[in-house]
Amino acid sequence: MMKNEMISELQKIIDKSRRIVFFGGAGVSTASGIPDFRSAGGLYAQSFGDLTPEMMLSKSFFYLHPREFFDFYRKYMVYPDAQPNAAHRFLYELEKRDRLRGIVTQNIDGLHKKAGNRRVYEIHGSVHENYCLDCNVRYPLAKIMEPDGIPRCDQCGGVIKPSVVLYGEPLDPYVCIGAKREISNADTLIVAGTSLSVEPAASFLEFFGGRHLIVINLEPTPADNSAALVLRGEAAEILGSLSADPAE
Ligand code: NAD
Ligand code: ZN
Repeated sequence: MMKNEMISELQKIIDKSRRIVFFGGAGVSTASGIPDFRSAGGLYAQSFGDLTPEMMLSKSFFYLHPREFFDFYRKYMVYPDAQPNAAHRFLYELEKRDRLRGIVTQNIDGLHKKAGNRRVYEIHGSVHENYCLDCNVRYPLAKIMEPDGIPRCDQCGGVIKPSVVLYGEPLDPYVCIGAKREISNADTLIVAGTSLSVEPAASFLEFFGGRHLIVINLEPTPADNSAALVLRGEAAEILGSLSADPAE
């Protein structure tokens, strides 16, 4: 099939689906100017001396070297000016028409919520939610971005931690239950912009028992074999070319 035929095939599936769920990763936000991890231009292709991004984004690095953690985090993980792109906007239109049951995202950028979606499961947390490790007071992203090393609580002086899930940390069980429930109730699951190499996130796909598994990604993924349709291309371009209104 040619690309246009694939897109009209995808449109047909979306038109007849009643319970669509979207499962996304970093490739959904690259069109918003946020690099992914594993592409050639991604974060993992850069050199950070002896340290890897996985090490610097680990729980132990956060507690042992908070100053270095926040230097790295502010510079490479947070994009305060990023705006939703055509992929986020299409999913908002679908949810507005009550045709999208939920978005399960590995992204921490908050762009689905910024686009207006409400049924969003941010399974790796969000840069927009931060809290004091000592007294639990919540802080906005702006507090983390203050350029003075380790962000500290105004109330008690405790260290403020982003709610993002670091390597070595468990996922929030409530968010996971909700995300798995949505996936298991879906008739169509659209998987986009993810290498499916981060666990346990990737294993969430096992909960899907619906008819149509769609994969949209620049590179092959482990889910391609079980997919009804695989589109090799830009997530924002493909999703942005779809209509949220079913054809008459
Ligand atoms: P990944 O970097 O492992 O994989 C990204 C995948 O998306 C690759 O397979 C790549 O080929 C594909 N891709 C890149 N650009 C694309 C595009 N425009 N259209 C379609 N496909 C595209 O990312 P991942 O699977 O999400 O896992 C990495 C982890 O990194 C996640 O846990 C996430 O929390 C974190 N992360 C988040 C962000 C963000 O919040 N925007 C950005 C980078 C990494
Ligand atoms: Zn505090």
